[in-house]
Amino acid sequence: MITVGTDARPDISVEHTMHSDQTQPRIDAFTLPAGSAPVACVDIGGTKVAVNIVDDLGIRGKVAEPTATSGAPDALAQQIIRLIGQSCAAAGVAQASLTRVGVSSCGPFVLRDGLVELAAPNICGGLAGKARGLPNDWQTALLEAPLRAAFAQVRVENDGIGALEAERRWGALQQGGAPLAHCAYVTWSTGIGTGLCVDGRVLRGKNGNAGHAGHIFVSDNLDALCGCGNVGDVEGLVAGNALARRFAAAGYPSAAMLFEAAYAGDTRAEAIIDEVCRVMGRMLYSLIATLDLQRISVGGSVYWHHRDYLLPRLRAAVRGKLAPLTDGCEIVSAGLGERVGDFGALALVA
Ligand SMILES: [Zn+2]
Repeated sequence: MITVGTDARPDISVEHTMHSDQTQPRIDAFTLPAGSAPVACVDIGGTKVAVNIVDDLGIRGKVAEPTATSGAPDALAQQIIRLIGQSCAAAGVAQASLTRVGVSSCGPFVLRDGLVELAAPNICGGLAGKARGLPNDWQTALLEAPLRAAFAQVRVENDGIGALEAERRWGALQQGGAPLAHCAYVTWSTGIGTGLCVDGRVLRGKNGNAGHAGHIFVSDNLDALCGCGNVGDVEGLVAGNALARRFAAAGYPSAAMLFEAAYAGDTRAEAIIDEVCRVMGRMLYSLIATLDLQRISVGGSVYWHHRDYLLPRLRAAVRGKLAPLTDGCEIVSAGLGERVGDFGALALVA
């Protein structure tokens, strides 16, 4: 059992148990300090909303549902309020005893009167257009205002920022228990997202959207249509669903099958993954060149399942380029492994 904490925050206990391969810690037990009031952790994705309660007994009462996309524009917020009630009931915690609600959400955000609303094309039918088939015409989904009407303390952040904070406190973006000052977390999953920190400050930007680096343009490929509507951005080229869409015709109908083929020595699949790593490597290089980072941790399901294959390729794509910038920056696997997302909302309120 190790204890992690800073002067400004209560100590948090995290138990690290080594996997059989001895490469990554596994978080088996997580508790707030004895006597801590419970907090609610909310994770909003394009397909699923998950809520759990965390207190001095651990992480409890997990409930999840498909993300609400029909009804009034506050349907998602009302769903979250209801799920928090259900999570409290499942955990045996009185809802009135909740002190804080942390929300880690997919973006982008827009601010109305300083409060976050979601403007995510995979949730808001008014943005995506009829072709997307969403059963609503929302321009935004209300989020922070209804939650603040229901709970005293609410913190909403982009999920890249939640994951970054989790990695800085409990994962690979800390050194000797202190969070790194110049670092980034990158998720390579169904989508591509980042959380960024420079000079010890987590970057947010005018609407809390800093870190949407998956949507920077890197090519003119016409086969790389991103869910955001861009053609040729990083996410449209290398995200998990982009790989499936782009290379199905070549005989690789899913990212998993593309990697299987490469592992089996299929040189065509190897070449595709090499090219994909060059694109992702360029994004990492661009982050380093722009922000002067000392470490980047990478997670997300595509990366995590194939990290032994991908990490050396990503490092090679960056190594030697403008050495004064890149020499001092390490690229590593996420310290929290597959559970980075689980800890993102918690890092906002714990
Ligand atoms: Zn995009």
